Amino acid sequence: MKLMVPAIDTHTHTYLSGHAYSTIFENITVAAQKGLKGIVNTDHSPAMSDCRWPAAVRFLRNVPREFMGVRIYHGVEADIIDYDGTLSVTEEYYSLLDFMIASLHEVVKPAGTKMQNTQAMIGALNHPHVDILGHPGTPAFEVDIEAVVKEAAKCNKLIEINSHSFEVRKGCEQNCIQFAKLCKKYDVRISLASDAHMCFQVGAFDNAIKLLETVDFPQELIVSRSLQSFEAYLVERKQRIANK
Ligand SMILES: [Zn+2]
Ligand SMILES: [Zn+2]
Repeated sequence: MKLMVPAIDTHTHTYLSGHAYSTIFENITVAAQKGLKGIVNTDHSPAMSDCRWPAAVRFLRNVPREFMGVRIYHGVEADIIDYDGTLSVTEEYYSLLDFMIASLHEVVKPAGTKMQNTQAMIGALNHPHVDILGHPGTPAFEVDIEAVVKEAAKCNKLIEINSHSFEVRKGCEQNCIQFAKLCKKYDVRISLASDAHMCFQVGAFDNAIKLLETVDFPQELIVSRSLQSFEAYLVERKQRIANK
């Protein structure tokens, strides 16, 4: 079945990430031109040596919540810094954030054993402020995909299908197909991400959509499919954090 292009891009970077090259204004401009309804600004965390932290989250308070018809959500791509799933972003910043990605990056945390990597992702999923695992299909970190997806189901968290991975993380396809199939099996919601490091990549979902169509992925499990479905998720998130 053909999938609709998502209305929200939940993973985008600005130059404050260090190795990204556009401003928020440029990202929003491209998002508007492509007809997106919203973007989540998710610059890197203090664990990345070239990230300008805490400017990377603090600058967002000066950005309007909506511009050129595009909603702007405040997020971060936190690093998972140990095998228990501890995050690089500390509690003092949580109140500034609408959405938090948790990712493993080799430059921050070298890959462990399959069991250690799996534990790291499971630990992060259990963090009440974490919404989604970023590019979990990366071949650099071998994981027990079924165990990770089952934990996401248990915690009611999201799995990311990262379109950028198909270009920069060679060999991720098989893992991503496996994640997609198991998310479908266990009713785990996902989001599609451009992981844009330059404005022209904002809203670039083609690779992820193609992959999801090969497994006949259900549209209703894509949380970013519409503004309404994404905002409903954010309401659920607020309740989850309040009840923690
Ligand atoms: Zn990343
Ligand atoms: Zn990223």
